[in-house]
This record gives sequence, structure tokens and C-alpha cells, in this order.
Amino acid sequence: MIRYALVCAKGHTFESWFPNSSAYDKQVKRALVTCPACGSAKVEKAIMAPQLSSRTRHDTPETLPVPATSPAPAAPPAPAAPPAPNNAPVAMMSPQETEFRRKLKELRDHLVKNADYVGAKFPEEARKMHYGEADRRSIYGEASPQETKELYEEGIEIHPLPPLPDERN
Ligand SMILES: [Zn+2]
Repeated sequence: MIRYALVCAKGHTFESWFPNSSAYDKQVKRALVTCPACGSAKVEKAIMAPQLSSRTRHDTPETLPVPATSPAPAAPPAPAAPPAPNNAPVAMMSPQETEFRRKLKELRDHLVKNADYVGAKFPEEARKMHYGEADRRSIYGEASPQETKELYEEGIEIHPLPPLPDERN
């Protein structure tokens, strides 16, 4: 059995168990996997943050979705709680988590190198590509939570850029 963190087209996240990864692919293709919050069958794997409390689990990073396909991820602001003054979030990471984090960084670096930065014009550019008014390419930029929601509702496939702890300054 394998557990995937999933996200629906409206951005709801939930978890589901599958016998194996090909069973996951089949069930999603046949729209058998639905969001418990809204019933949408448009679901995909979400990026899961490494959990320090579950060291005994042997999740491999190969479940990491690769969002380098166009259109590229939006970067909605992470809803992180403000840290207490003078305290920074810290963690001791196992080698697995260090590797996972390295891959996240690789993904970001690759995306940032190969995608066009469009800044606040991201929603506009993503729509142009979605509706065929512009050639498809990888882009990244910023979108507000409201803009992100609207893009999801129009069925435009975007992904949040995974934040890295040392970039949250
Ligand atoms: Zn949903």
C-alpha cells in the first residue's frame, strides 16, 4: 500500500491509499478518485512536506510531482504563522529528508532557470496559454490567493512553488 497526498483542482488537499503507484494512475484516469470536500475528480499528487514525526516511514522522493510542464507554478504566499520574535523555525533532518529537500531545491532551480519570469502578469500569461492565445511554455511569477483560486476554477493547471525554509526571511 502507498499513501499519496492529493490536491484537487480547487486546491483541497487530502490523502488516499493505493495498492501501488500504477493503481493510482489508473484510478485517477478513470476519475475514481474524488475530492472528499467538493467531489472533483480532477486530482493530482501534492507535494508533502517532510514530517519529522514519521521517521519510521520510508517515503521515497519519487512521489514528488514535477511541475516543470507549462504553464509553470504560481507562487501563492505560504500561509505560515508568524514566528515568535527572534525565533526561527528549525529542524534536524534525517538523510532522507535532506535528500528530499535537495530535490525540492533542484526542482526550483531548474524551473527558475528554464521558465520565464512574468511577475504579477502570471495570471494573464497563464490564461493566454490556456486559451491558445500564446504558445505554451514554462513561466513562473506571482498570483494572489484570489487569482490562484480563479485560475483553478477555470481549469488552468498551476502549481505552487515549494518554499524552502532558508528562503523564508
Ligand atoms: Zn476539492
